[in-house]
Amino acid sequence: MSETAASIALITGANEGIGKETARQLAARGVRVIIGSRSLDKGEAVAAALREQGQAAEAVQIDVCDAASVQAAAAEIERRHGRLDILVNNAGIAIDRGPLGTLPIDDLTATFDTNVTGTFRVTQAMLPLLRRSAHARIVNVSSGLASMGFMSSDAWRHMPLMLSSYAASKAALNALTIHWARELADAGIQVNAADPGPTATRHTPPGAHPVEVGAQPVVRLALIDKDGPTGQFFGQQGASAW
Ligand code: NAP
Repeated sequence: MSETAASIALITGANEGIGKETARQLAARGVRVIIGSRSLDKGEAVAAALREQGQAAEAVQIDVCDAASVQAAAAEIERRHGRLDILVNNAGIAIDRGPLGTLPIDDLTATFDTNVTGTFRVTQAMLPLLRRSAHARIVNVSSGLASMGFMSSDAWRHMPLMLSSYAASKAALNALTIHWARELADAGIQVNAADPGPTATRHTPPGAHPVEVGAQPVVRLALIDKDGPTGQFFGQQGASAW
């Protein structure tokens, strides 16, 4: 899989974890990567390290929960490039620490604010730039925990950490992925959800694989062909059940 040098990708939350590794893998395939980061200094450091390896990388400040920051990032990308080819909505949080009965409402609100509303806000803001691309793709970084089938299975009851509000937020993200895909089909913009699987990052779930593996389904969807899928959910093994 290779990409023309002209393709431009924004990855949110790319200063750390799966987002950073996604940026590294896309840059290695010839994509110009924009490292989206709440801390511009951290984003610049990641971009500088990629540039030292001869890759095209730059940074932009973006906090997906802050409308002004998201609008400023879109304006900055418009000023620099006039368009966007790939949007990877990677920024996400998982802060559940117990059963729903005692979950602080603020934790639920923060989870949905980042994983659902934040992703939606970034998608809306970047849409005019994506519409100017000859081949635009959006990847929403979801989770296997978003699967309704898995949530309602016996396997869920044996999870060491329930992460119920996180799972619900990613299920909402999956639902929006389907709706965005349908709405943007005529514009030729492909929208899919990716499940990295348990991945060793800031929080390491049991059975985690390294970020080099976790980022692979994300990168595959970021680089799909025009006749590839849209409105679908893919993990390490291919198509995933919703
Ligand atoms: P991570 O190492 O904690 O990185 C999360 C990234 O998101 C960080 O760069 C963080 O920035 C950023 N972020 C959080 N809130 C943000 C906001 N409001 N605005 C902009 N950036 C924000 O987590 P990760 O494991 O790589 O997770 C990346 C994505 O993969 C998430 O969507 C997660 O739900 C998903 N995922 C992870 C796993 C896993 O096992 N790790 C499995 C399935 C899905 P700061 O450094 O500023 O906090």
